[in-house]
Amino acid sequence: MPKQRLSFEFFPPANPAAEARLRNTVDELAPFGPEFVSVTYGAGGTTRALTLETAKEIQADHGLTVAAHLTCVGAPRERILSTARNLADAGVREILALRGDPPKDQDRFLPQPGGFRNTCELVSALADIPGLRIRVSAYPDPHPDAAYAGADVDWLKRKLDAGAGSAITQFFFEAETYFRFRDTCQRAGIDAPIIPGILPIQNWETTRGFARRCGAHIPDWLDSAFRTALRDGNGRHDILAISVCTELCSELIDGGVEHLHFYTLNRPNLTREVIHALGLSPAGKNLGTERNSARSPDSRSKRDASGTWMPLNPSRSHAYQGLTSVH
Ligand SMILES: Cc1cc2nc3c(=O)[nH]c(=O)nc-3n(C[C@H](O)[C@H](O)[C@H](O)COP(=O)(O)OP(=O)(O)OC[C@H]3O[C@@H](n4cnc5c(N)ncnc54)[C@H](O)[C@@H]3O)c2cc1C
Repeated sequence: MPKQRLSFEFFPPANPAAEARLRNTVDELAPFGPEFVSVTYGAGGTTRALTLETAKEIQADHGLTVAAHLTCVGAPRERILSTARNLADAGVREILALRGDPPKDQDRFLPQPGGFRNTCELVSALADIPGLRIRVSAYPDPHPDAAYAGADVDWLKRKLDAGAGSAITQFFFEAETYFRFRDTCQRAGIDAPIIPGILPIQNWETTRGFARRCGAHIPDWLDSAFRTALRDGNGRHDILAISVCTELCSELIDGGVEHLHFYTLNRPNLTREVIHALGLSPAGKNLGTERNSARSPDSRSKRDASGTWMPLNPSRSHAYQGLTSVH
């Protein structure tokens, strides 16, 4: 089995307590040897200084490769490019280039006067800065701004053609959502890596809100499993979250994925438990040839003889049913 590569997303802390939580999260996850970690940029461009500071600190204090998120929102072109140059001078040479979410008082993206009008413009301007490695986002479930089916694939191709080298996906809940998107991208001539973004579910209601805003499809079986877990209490939410996320990652690995990017929300526990359940050692090496089948449910989808992915078994939530039967 090839070595799995890992990366983690963090957000910049807004106060001393959040700063301590982030530090603890980085300390807990750094031993897994991530290929890079990324630091988000607040909606509406609200955390520019904090993103810059946090990215530089993680790079300097932990020696990790950091990708700083940069968006087109809230600043003219020159200010955004000078932020990128400032990061590069401090050794932060990876940028996740995004259009960005609008500020709270706007319901859709409007370019700033003198600002980048879209992500492709940002990517091509960043590509002129020597030594920068540019990543972009990708959307396996349709982005709310997608004008037609397949628009996200066409737009991803344009972002890559503008100078990006790889993409990280928005989170999704079923492996076939990723595989379908990856296959469509391949058919469209995209050969850059498309790294799946994995969201360990810290809080089901918050996750539902995230999904509503970004267009991620919530399968009925998942909603029902989490509602049952919440009703039953006794920590079942987290046990279900670990099971579901482990199964998703396991299916992705079975389908040839070699890199997983975790949205940690600055909390290490679920991400760490999932990585352990997958059988990956802290050095980022595989523990053995088999993943930990005791913790990883066995209802993974498999390729059929023609090489296409068969639908997930809807009874995958049996992992949770097994847990309830403890009583
Ligand atoms: C991995 C990841 C990290 C993120 N980090 C942050 C962050 O740090 N800060 C933040 O504010 N937001 C972040 N976001 C959210 C992101 O900013 C929002 O989803 C935003 O609405 C779109 O930005 P984008 O760069 O992903 O969009 P794009 O890929 O540029 O656009 C999304 C889709 O909209 C359509 N579209 C957009 N512009 C055009 C156009 N000009 N012509 C035709 N179609 C168009 C396309 O269908 C496209 O696929 C992140 C998202 C992901 C997946």
